[in-house]
Amino acid sequence: MTNVRSATLDAVLTHSGSGSFQLPWEIGVFAEIFGTEHGRILPMVERVADPGATIEKAEASTCSPMVESVSGAHNHSRKLFLGHAVSTELGRVHPTPEEQLSLMAQRFELILAHSFEASVLGRRIQDLDREERLAKIELALGGKSLGTLKKRYGQAARFVTWANGENMVAFPIAGQVAEEYLQHLSTSAARHSALTGAIESMNFLHHVLGVDMDPRACLAPVVQGILRKARKNRPPKKQARALKVCELLDLENALTSHDYSAIDRFCIGCFLAAVYGRARLGDLRVIEGVLLDFTENQADSCGYLEVVSLSHKCSMASNRQGLRLHLVIPAKGIGPRCWGRDFVQVAKECGRDLDKISSGEPLLYMPDVHGGFSDVPAETATFTAWIAEILGTMPSFCGERITGHTAKHTLLEWMGKAGLDLDNQSLLGHHVLVGRNSALTYARDQQSSPVRKLEAMLSDVRLGVFLPDVSRSGMFAKNPKPLGIISLAPQDQPGESGQAEPSPVVSEVGESTADRVGLEAEWELPNASENMSEEMWYKQLADDDGGAFSDAPDDAIGLGVFDKDPAAEDSFEPGSSSSSESSSDESLDEKVQACGALASSSRSDVGAECSVYQNRMTKKLHLLPRGSSSNKFVCGRLLDDKHREFVGGVMVASMKCISCHRGKPINDVGALCHALDAASKRRRTSGA
Ligand SMILES: [Zn+2]
Repeated sequence: MTNVRSATLDAVLTHSGSGSFQLPWEIGVFAEIFGTEHGRILPMVERVADPGATIEKAEASTCSPMVESVSGAHNHSRKLFLGHAVSTELGRVHPTPEEQLSLMAQRFELILAHSFEASVLGRRIQDLDREERLAKIELALGGKSLGTLKKRYGQAARFVTWANGENMVAFPIAGQVAEEYLQHLSTSAARHSALTGAIESMNFLHHVLGVDMDPRACLAPVVQGILRKARKNRPPKKQARALKVCELLDLENALTSHDYSAIDRFCIGCFLAAVYGRARLGDLRVIEGVLLDFTENQADSCGYLEVVSLSHKCSMASNRQGLRLHLVIPAKGIGPRCWGRDFVQVAKECGRDLDKISSGEPLLYMPDVHGGFSDVPAETATFTAWIAEILGTMPSFCGERITGHTAKHTLLEWMGKAGLDLDNQSLLGHHVLVGRNSALTYARDQQSSPVRKLEAMLSDVRLGVFLPDVSRSGMFAKNPKPLGIISLAPQDQPGESGQAEPSPVVSEVGESTADRVGLEAEWELPNASENMSEEMWYKQLADDDGGAFSDAPDDAIGLGVFDKDPAAEDSFEPGSSSSSESSSDESLDEKVQACGALASSSRSDVGAECSVYQNRMTKKLHLLPRGSSSNKFVCGRLLDDKHREFVGGVMVASMKCISCHRGKPINDVGALCHALDAASKRRRTSGA
């Protein structure tokens, strides 16, 4: 405000000095109408004396009602999506899955180039030209998910650049190398996952790319000792929390509430689908479609939404067997209404009919600033942040952070508390039954009986018979209250009112059984497997990490996470993890490139008359004419600090700026001089 004031003052001062000459309306008859006070016919309008004071007055008089009206609108319909909107006008590059695979092949080429002679694949492709080389690498990576590849690349890149910094060659992976690398990691205070990741990546390099490795390299006493120590000092994992009954109920109610904008309500609907479908948010990341199977509204059921997930955690294994994960989602939750129908209605309002979602799409796209959908799918992290903010505005919110696993965990925890048998729990949680054919888990019809049991439990919650939030022995109410009454006043829950307060003896019994059922059903605790081989142990641990716990990023599938730093899992340089997130993955590629035989090779398709710059945000590649004096790219954009020179070779076609690559590289005097110089030099050398 002070700026505006001083600007106004400045303007008044500069313009008040220009009264020395006579203007047309100060002469003759016009002066009588428009002129100064004496001798004018028309009455004078009050003049502004001190602009500062006036503005202050104006502020006092006009601003306060304005503020009020703004906050009034805010109350009327919150626009929470704004905080999560992705800007679409940025023009960020979205490579296709094929292009992403090509990028990964190019990156692993750089890894192999660290020492072509030291791997089966490297020796095979060393003398081929680049196209063929990349094609072979892509074949070798076949069937691995992009998420895995990105993770392994980050780990391998870290390994290779470390070796390069130590002036040694990491391949073949000998016991000495593995030992020193692990030692380096443990002294640089790397996290536990970085240590296990290093071993995983060495095994990946050996088994997938055929890098020569001493089979006993990872079994060396020092390596094993470092791992054992890290495991022992590992911080305990945090379990995802379940939603409270009143929170879930509020979410259901919000679907029809006008307090929230349509797109925020759509997000709520998607989250409820995950909760009632006992699904990870990632399961909704790529779906085959939504099937609406509603029945007449009954007390306990009003049908189902069926979603076929193409991106669930075990999609690698099950797709191989031709199995799809069917999520059968009860459309009636714990609220009085049928949330499924409400969700369909909200979807219509948003112009995104659920039954018209086509195969390969996510259930939820992130919003844009106008309240519509962008083309960016909701990843687990962004989805969670959005729904967490919505939940935070609800009166029932208990204040405890929710995580990506909360959706899946909520009903599983309730089922555990309700004492549902383990087989049913496993089926409902889409876990493969121990010792059974995994086809069972994926068979759609196999779910009908467990889902009926689930609906019975939901009905118990609705009727207030089963109270999942109450301390364990008081979970089944002696004189039930229907849910509507409990939820409207969250502080009035039976557990806190003392009505169902357990006696200590009962409490102990209830605790032990409920705990056992609840925990063992979902996870095998790692320390229950003392005599397992180290490798098995880590394999299982790695599985867990993507699984039911909250401390690991829930990105087991990682489709299309292009903009993510490949090394994000374990920060490339300890201590500087995500500060330069946008630039670190290219510089990582370039660092890796500098470590190998391809260090000095450049891209073939960039002409000598231009240098390449990359926009850190959008990843677009622009061409700057050499010798340019105006610092403008061929396409006309200005070179600024958003851009960095792109010296590596890891790129795909969709990253190129089309106008740059089509335009003429001479667009200013400097570039013209440079081009003329080059031309005359050529002429001189050819003439001589
Ligand atoms: Zn351009």
